[in-house]
Amino acid sequence: MAERVYNFAAGPSTMPESALKTAAAEMLDYKGSGMSVMEISHRSPLFQEIFDSAQEKLRALLRVPESHEILFLQGGATTQFAAIPMNLLEGGAADYAVTGNFSGKAAEEAAKYGTVRIAADTSATGHDRIPTQAELKLSPDAKYFYYCANNTIFGTEWQLVPQTAAPLVCDMSSDILSREIEVADYGLIYAGAQKNMGIAGLTVVIIRKDLIRSDVDPIVPSMMRYDLMAKNDSMYNTPPCWAIYMAGLCFHWVEDQGGIAALEAKNKEKSDLLYNYLDQSRLFHPVADKKDRSLMNVTFTLPTDEQTKAFLALCEERGMINIKGHRSVGGCRASIYNAMPIEGVQLLVQTMKEFEEKNMA
Ligand SMILES: *Cc1c(COP(=O)(O)O)cnc(C)c1O
Repeated sequence: MAERVYNFAAGPSTMPESALKTAAAEMLDYKGSGMSVMEISHRSPLFQEIFDSAQEKLRALLRVPESHEILFLQGGATTQFAAIPMNLLEGGAADYAVTGNFSGKAAEEAAKYGTVRIAADTSATGHDRIPTQAELKLSPDAKYFYYCANNTIFGTEWQLVPQTAAPLVCDMSSDILSREIEVADYGLIYAGAQKNMGIAGLTVVIIRKDLIRSDVDPIVPSMMRYDLMAKNDSMYNTPPCWAIYMAGLCFHWVEDQGGIAALEAKNKEKSDLLYNYLDQSRLFHPVADKKDRSLMNVTFTLPTDEQTKAFLALCEERGMINIKGHRSVGGCRASIYNAMPIEGVQLLVQTMKEFEEKNMA
């Protein structure tokens, strides 16, 4: 069997090995049922147990208060770009901080359903930074304030929680479970699972119960109504059973690691290794503003395209893949989500050092 690589992909991304092993061991016969999880009814007690356990684990890990509902939905994070304004905007206005590709798309989508006010826009400097609190232009009539906690493509991450009168709506697709948060600070948190908590197909929405409205425009598709999803315990239709099962295994792994606080410390250690090296390198150049650096996606460049290509080839040779930057920004990006072991980051830094020595000689 081929050895596993260090997969630095931004998403879908590397998974905890223990979750994959458990899934493999349970593949043909899940708990004596004679079936795989893919084959059992979503209405069966066996699946209900998988579902409830995943939801309870997530509630415990994030310390989600009773004031907030956890929904397991489909359609990826991108479907939420529309579902959020459809459910919360009521044809009114909302403030959007555009700090990257995904928040830009979310703002464009929301503009179809109401008034979008751009509270901040960092595109002038290639989204290399996060606005300060003082920079945010907040409107008094905003139904919510929208931002993306971690900009997967650009490698920046909000270090502050914006202070706003309007409820906070936050895309945490690429940093959920990577650091401690206070869920009570938010009106709505959402995340696609395939970065830091499993596989594509599941989107988690954590919403404050008083924001779940039943008087939304009747034209809103049933599948996008939070009230219907909440009323039916996220099983209005067939849920993404396998993705929920895999998320449950990932949550179990997070517990085993000591929870989010322990993982946050590990994530700081991993990202420090890379950033400390980048800060003194004469060849590699960090992209994101120092104060706004992401713990999850580390972006950097080399002076020429030839050097970038040669470096990526060397990484592949050594079993480190998917370090090429997003097509819209180029350069390199190492995504070091929870499941990336520190050994992978150590090997990457070692390889960067060797490449620098050879190329600066
Ligand atoms: C990947 C990503 C998305 C898009 O997720 P899909 O599940 O592909 O729709 C949105 N926001 C952020 C921050 C992401 O990293």
